[in-house]
Amino acid sequence: MASVQTLSHVYPLGSALDENGRLQIGGCDVIELAERFGTPAYVVAEADLRSRARAFIDAFRAAGQEDFEVLFASKAFPATAVMALFAGEGLGCDVASAGELHLALRAGFHPAKLVAHGNARDDRELQAALDAAVGHIVVDSHDDIDRLERLTAGAARRQPVLVRITPGVRGDTHEKISTGQADSKFGVGLDEAPAAIERLRGLEGVELLGLHFHLGSQLFTLDTFRSGIAAIAPLGDFPVYNLGGGLGVAYTDEQRPPAIEEYVAALVETVREQLGSGKRLLVEPGRALVANGCVTLYRVVGVKRNVSTWVSVDGGMSDNLRPMLYGARYQAEIADRFGGATRVHLTGKHCESGDILIRDAMLDDPRPGDVVVVPVTGAYGYAMANNYNGVPRAPVIFASDGEARVVVRRETLDDLHARDV
Ligand code: PLP
Repeated sequence: MASVQTLSHVYPLGSALDENGRLQIGGCDVIELAERFGTPAYVVAEADLRSRARAFIDAFRAAGQEDFEVLFASKAFPATAVMALFAGEGLGCDVASAGELHLALRAGFHPAKLVAHGNARDDRELQAALDAAVGHIVVDSHDDIDRLERLTAGAARRQPVLVRITPGVRGDTHEKISTGQADSKFGVGLDEAPAAIERLRGLEGVELLGLHFHLGSQLFTLDTFRSGIAAIAPLGDFPVYNLGGGLGVAYTDEQRPPAIEEYVAALVETVREQLGSGKRLLVEPGRALVANGCVTLYRVVGVKRNVSTWVSVDGGMSDNLRPMLYGARYQAEIADRFGGATRVHLTGKHCESGDILIRDAMLDDPRPGDVVVVPVTGAYGYAMANNYNGVPRAPVIFASDGEARVVVRRETLDDLHARDV
């Protein structure tokens, strides 16, 4: 079916409305997907993820940066198929726990392309990273150094490490996803950093290669990154710098984050100015790789009118916690009637008044049975999914060139008690 209308930049690349006004993602009709796979469901346009991965790599090359690595921050969408796709595109992977490490290895990442993080790692979790021989362990604290000293004593291999610095830079984002400010639970502050660096240089079992920072997430201002780089410059000259993730994405039509190319060019240029040339540069995008490539499909279950109009769907805070966690803003449409003018609250099925996906969504006269699409759900949606109210978690469907396939099945009711002993 020929596509007749392309959509705003919040939708996966290549999305369109067909001549009947029905949404197509990855060449698939989403209403047919809803019928075939049920709702709620995460639908991922495979080509969108690939294109953004390539955009990062191309941007480094275009900026003249030869020595670099783009690592997928797997916490954003830790599904094996997503991770395997990025492994296939040549990306590395950022893992924040032994669980993410396990998933990354299963997904096919070479251990040397893994970076292991964590602000509360016990011996077991650090040992798992050492056993896997990950490319870098990012040291978060003096307690990490104590543990590494013990765990690497007499080891045959010297583990490459970076130190995570908290550079005292606060980004323009929600406080719950801001991490670069001095008063943060992550990393080592600027004052403490020289002592941590000194200690790591003295350890036989580790090789200190450089510094890391991650300033926060959903950042729109490139000057935040420039300030972070300038702040760590006085800490010394290192061969490797990992500048974290954080590039923001558009959740609504009016949002215009910097393009991947602008972001990478700003990093490369500032690193050359502040840290010198010939450095190995790493970045760890999560959201910017996966957010816009995925939409969630819901079915309208009921429409209730009192002071407001409440449109209840068959998912909610079990498949997308972000609106409840930090007031994240989304937009929605009826999948075959875009451009509505009925103001509604799009609400979930959970037993919480706060289970509202979108306040003041504009929909076209929603009715029970309609398929609602919420775009930009690829980042931290599946990742934070839960079973509140005994709701089985939603499947992940990959759509590509008109073909759809399940890459994570829907949970069953039996899965809900599968861990009982
Ligand atoms: N790197 C680290 C250390 C992080 O903690 C995070 C997110 O929390 C990321 C990368 C990815 O951030 P984003 O999804 O905003 O790109």
